[in-house]
Formats: sequence, C-alpha cells, structure tokens
Amino acid sequence: MKINENFLKIQNNYLFSDIAKKVAAYKEANPTADIIRLGIGDVTRPLPKKVTEAMKKAVEEQESAEHFRGYPPEYGYDFLRSAINRHDFASRGVTLQDDEIFVSDGAKSDCGNIGDIFDQDNLVAICDPLYPVYVDTNVMAGRSGDLVDGHWNRFYYMPCTAENGFLPALPDCKVDLIYLCFPNNPTGMAITKDELAKWVDYANRNDSVILYDAAYEAYITEENVPHSIFEIDGAKTCAIEFRSFSKTAGFTGARCAYTIVPHELKRGGVELNALWARRQATKFNGVSYITQRGAEAVFTEEGQKQVQENIAYYRRNAKVIAEGLKKAGFSVYGGVNSPYIWLRVPDGMTSWEFFDLLLHKMQVVGTPGSGFGAAGEGYFRLTSFGDAEKTKEAVERITAYFQK
Ligand code: PLP
Repeated sequence: MKINENFLKIQNNYLFSDIAKKVAAYKEANPTADIIRLGIGDVTRPLPKKVTEAMKKAVEEQESAEHFRGYPPEYGYDFLRSAINRHDFASRGVTLQDDEIFVSDGAKSDCGNIGDIFDQDNLVAICDPLYPVYVDTNVMAGRSGDLVDGHWNRFYYMPCTAENGFLPALPDCKVDLIYLCFPNNPTGMAITKDELAKWVDYANRNDSVILYDAAYEAYITEENVPHSIFEIDGAKTCAIEFRSFSKTAGFTGARCAYTIVPHELKRGGVELNALWARRQATKFNGVSYITQRGAEAVFTEEGQKQVQENIAYYRRNAKVIAEGLKKAGFSVYGGVNSPYIWLRVPDGMTSWEFFDLLLHKMQVVGTPGSGFGAAGEGYFRLTSFGDAEKTKEAVERITAYFQK
C-alpha cells in the first residue's frame, strides 16, 4: 500500500494562519487596539433578499411529498442552466448550449478538479502571483516536478509584475494547460479583449487548453474587458471557463458556481465536455435544489438590482482605497475591474515588513503579496469586501501616516 506521495510535496501555505497569529499577538499586547481588516477575501454583505426568498420557498416545497426533491441532476437543474445561459452569455452575444454549462458547488472545486480529465505529463503554465489552488492541485496530481529554489521545476512560470502591466507574456515554448484568472486575484488587474485574443490564438496554434477563471467578472467596469473568454473568437476550441456566484451574489457560504466546457473543445479527437460530464457524474452529486433556486433568483430583475447594489458597495470601497493610497504616494493597481487593490510597498521593505508596519502603526490588516508567489514580493493586497466606514477609516489612517 502506498499513499499519494505528491501530497507530501505540498508546501503548507501558512499565509492566513501567520496573519491570524500576528494579529492575535498584537491584540493581546494591545487589547484596546481598534484593528481594521482589509485582508479578507470573503464577502460581508448579506445574500440579496430576492435570493433568500427563493431559498425559503424552495425549503417549504420540501415539506410536501408532491414537491420534495431528492438527488439533484449532477450537472444542474435545467431552470438554472438556461437562466445562466440567457443572462450571462446570450446577453453578451455568446451562443452556448445549456449542456455546455455544469453547475457546481464552487469555482474552487472545479478549477481544482478539472485536472482529473488531463494527463499527468501535461506541462502546466501558471501566473505568479496567483490563486494558490492552481499550484497545489497540480502538485497533488504529480504535474509539478520538484521544488527547486522555491519553484516547481515542471511548471512554466509567468511572472506578472508592474514591469509587464501584470499581464503574463505568451510562453516561448509549447505548454499544455494554461491557468489564466481575469480579473485577477490577487493583482486586481484585468485583460482586454485584444490581449486575451492573443492567448486564444496561442492555445489554438499549440493545442493547449486555457483554464480561465472568471470568478470576479461581475466587478468589470471597462468596456473593452471581456466578461467571458467566449467573447473571443476561437475560444470554444481551446478554453474552459470557471464562474462563481460567490463574489457576484454573496454565495461564499451558500455555495454555487458553474463551469463552461464547449462541445467544440476536443483533444485527441475526444470532447472534453464528455470527459467532464463523466467526471462530475462519477464524483459529484450536484448542488441542492434550494441553493439552485436561490441562484436562479439572482437573474430576476429584482435580484439583479440587489446584486448590483452590493457590488456597487464594494466598488465604492475599492475606489476609496485606491484613491486614498494614491494620495498617500503609493503605486496602486487593480480596483477598477476588481474588488482587489494591489500596491507596491515602500522601497526597501518586504511585503511582510509592510504588513507589520500597517498592523503596528495603523492597526490595519492586509495580505502580503509574497504569500501569493515569489513575484508577489514587494506588493501588498487590500480588499474592498469590508464595511464602508471601517474601510474609510483604515485609508485615513494610512494616508495620515504616510503623508507625515
Ligand atoms: N477563483 C478565484 C480566483 C478565487 O479568488 C476564489 C475565491 O477566493 C475562487 C475561485 C473560489 O470561488 P468559489 O467560492 O466559487 O469556490
């Protein structure tokens, strides 16, 4: 009997527990300190009323034998798949079939599980910094090679820094799987249609598959930024897209997401749609009827109004943070098409040193960029998911400190 030793290779990412420890120690030494947390990646606004109403109605249905629902369909109820199709794709000129949409319990699960349908020998390209799930799930699957000087020697790294506008350069060799996340976590930067078209072209020429994480598309404000990779001609033959209700509609606790696998996407003569359908039917038993009714309500007129109010709330926070920090002299990125603000820490400091300074002198908590990858060193992430008044107060503290 042998365990999967790849699990032993995974680097424990102590980022959030290290942050929690530092904050707890500071709080113990300074019990009256009013600490403001701008590090959180979770939403704080409640679920829209229209969503909870739909969920309550769905719960009541479960009380009668006539309306009771047992196992849901593995790929999602038709009512939700068609609502997603109409609202998120047809309205943007993207034609999909409902059976290209797979409803799930999270974009995290899907972008982690998608590796099941690909061979272990594929060469994986990842951005640096990044959402750590892409790395760890490929380490588990045995695609990483060994860790040498802080880098896995079988991954193709694509650094994203201020020098390249936080956009990865096209690989200078053939890679097989390409993880792209736009708008990006952690940098908050988006990609234009023209830039994304270059990736679609690269992938089609090289037989690569793009795994496109669009969990933050709802935050896009600029016209030339695509909400879906399928807005780009040719994407259906080279891309899979991950979407989530989490940051869009407050479903981080309720759990609902979906993944698009077009029928046109084939490798080795096989439709990846069929492989993903097989994978989901075997290992996943669907999202609850109650949650899917809640997700469906997101697309009603009233639901959209309420969802947009919450997003507008976070956008105002993002603006307060970005403008305040610029005024304080920082180089600030993101925040325009994203809930994340990425800033350069003052010269000569590391991300962690800046973390300590903010905590100790301003009682503000953020996330050190180095926690998202080596190329995140020298940067820092703040999020707009907090309370508006507290966010304003945090920015005032930072501005007052650095304008001294
Ligand atoms: N993808 C990115 C880039 C994220 O930042 C997150 C959550 O923080 C997720 C996916 C996870 O989304 P979900 O809540 O749908 O699992």
